[in-house]
Amino acid sequence: MLRLLLLVLLMLAGILFHWSLSVTAPVASAAAPLNVVVTLPVLKDWVQHIGGSHVHVTSLMTGYESEHTYSPKPSDLVAVRKAALLFEVGAGLEVWVSSLVKNAGNAALQVVTTSKGIELIQDHPEPVGAAPVHHHATGNPHVWLDPGAAATMVQHISDAMISADPDHATNYRAKTAAYLQALARTHQESSERLQHVSSRTVIVHHPAWPYFARRYDIQVAGTILTQPGGEPSAHHLHALIEIIKRDHIRVIVSEVQLNQKVPQLLARETGARIVVLTTLPGGLPGTDTYLDMLHYNVLQLAQALEQT
Ligand SMILES: [Zn+2]
Repeated sequence: MLRLLLLVLLMLAGILFHWSLSVTAPVASAAAPLNVVVTLPVLKDWVQHIGGSHVHVTSLMTGYESEHTYSPKPSDLVAVRKAALLFEVGAGLEVWVSSLVKNAGNAALQVVTTSKGIELIQDHPEPVGAAPVHHHATGNPHVWLDPGAAATMVQHISDAMISADPDHATNYRAKTAAYLQALARTHQESSERLQHVSSRTVIVHHPAWPYFARRYDIQVAGTILTQPGGEPSAHHLHALIEIIKRDHIRVIVSEVQLNQKVPQLLARETGARIVVLTTLPGGLPGTDTYLDMLHYNVLQLAQALEQT
């Protein structure tokens, strides 16, 4: 009797096992999301908008680090090993990506440089004899802060996702078109918000803003940090104070990812106001997406310039 019961149970288990395999296996493979790794959260936001539930995306940086001084974590290597696509900004920004990719040893991985085709602004060294701005061999890499360049980057992401996962091409194309429309709308609103601001000259903390400034007709009269992770010299600070006083500059644009000590010192010395913006989505409350971040930065900057 016991043996019979055992036999029945075994058969039942066998049927269940077989059934579960035949039901879940094909479904699981058809629904397996495209595995994507990005360097910066701004790229994650775009991948998610285009891919929705068809992608699984990991951003190596969170939005709280400086994009220049980042060094990869062990978990980054694991993520890159499992990915089909890796999106980077490029233009000399993520200098740590090539060794990370090499160490991951993922032969199937496709690395996509999203700034491809965007004409880079060539930084000029600070006029006060400081070291050359950043380590940009090719030009300033902060292209994503210009919505026009952002549209190009979104298109590169979309194209790469469509070729990596053609089954969802129609979906990706539709989502891309909708996103580009939303981007154009937010840019239009930003232009309108900044259009009537009369005082348009600022000092910036690090050279992240040339593309944004060009797009919205903001003048950058000086830069605090001429090297990522470095400290400005007393000579450089003195020169900045002179510029702020001479040109009656009222706003210092800082970033949440950077130390606020030097902007605070300049503000104390000159009476200029500090406005803290973010170059990466998620850096400040209310900046979770690229469009939220653009909206936030424009609004904060406009308010600071108007309060002068
Ligand atoms: Zn930067």
